[in-house]
Amino acid sequence: MDCVFCKIAGGQIKSAFVSENEDFVAFDDINPVASCHVLVVPKRHIKSIKELSGFSGQALKNLLGIIDTVTDEKGVKQTGYRVIVNQGSDAGQEVEHLHFHVIGGRKLGRLG
Ligand code: C5P
Repeated sequence: MDCVFCKIAGGQIKSAFVSENEDFVAFDDINPVASCHVLVVPKRHIKSIKELSGFSGQALKNLLGIIDTVTDEKGVKQTGYRVIVNQGSDAGQEVEHLHFHVIGGRKLGRLG
């Protein structure tokens, strides 16, 4: 499968992970919109947030855990951050492998 996030998660494309666990990797977005802009990506290729329902309870804990670790590593845990999923064309999803944007490090504007 020709998926850029599968290649990053699998190590075929080199990326310095901010964090990694059994189910997810986290790496800096190549086109950041803030000083903290990390993508949290499941190692397993899934396209949509709906498919997370197939993940085990432990894997979902690992998702929350890696987001927590990223915010700590990037120093935004206390100041605040957003976790965003762009799902589908109206949301502007570009990469069809589920990913969570973790964005912080500045005042963020209204969603819309
Ligand atoms: O949510 P959406 O699909 O629009 O976002 C994809 C994100 O993946 C973009 O922010 C883009 O900069 C990032 N990206 C990346 N490394 C790549 C390809 C895309 O960080 N090799």
